[in-house]
Amino acid sequence: MLKSTYDALKANIGRRSFLKMAAIATAAIATSALANDGITRSATEQEIKNPFPGSENIKTICTACSVGCGIIAEVQNGVWVRQEVAQDHPISLGGHCCKGADMIDMVRSEVRLKHPMVKEGGKWKRLSWDEALDRISAKLKSAHEKFGADSAMFLGSAKMSTEQAYYFRKFAAMYGTNNIDHQARI
Ligand code: SF4
Repeated sequence: MLKSTYDALKANIGRRSFLKMAAIATAAIATSALANDGITRSATEQEIKNPFPGSENIKTICTACSVGCGIIAEVQNGVWVRQEVAQDHPISLGGHCCKGADMIDMVRSEVRLKHPMVKEGGKWKRLSWDEALDRISAKLKSAHEKFGADSAMFLGSAKMSTEQAYYFRKFAAMYGTNNIDHQARI
């Protein structure tokens, strides 16, 4: 019976898809084995009602763009544990795009870049903000001296407010180039 099901499946789906399904099935079996071993358990009624005891709701905004949609961040012991839309936010009025809806995962991501970094000798090294700014300004100055103002391109960000975009434009003009554009253009 099992063999005929296996053969029927193999005949109807590609090898790659079959392998993916087999991996998922193995993971599911392993998970249920853990549950049966008492390693995992069902949540209690109290835990379902209040999964993060002692948490507080903090009003914040999505940082993915300068619209600044409202988010309620539920924080427990300094860790962002759950998010909700801010229904009373004056701009987003309880709305979000998909980037804002996933803000909690971006903030908690293991691959999130939290500090300026530089790769030296094949290895990543943390820099202070002052050191990073010094290095960037030295490179800009050297490019300007060696190749002229048009050797640099200034690319803005959708995270910038109108005021920040204004200063960014001024900065490119001070450098002496019209090579400037906005990330949202692409
Ligand atoms: S990225 Fe989306 S959710 Fe975030 S501020 Fe911009 S529009 Fe709002």
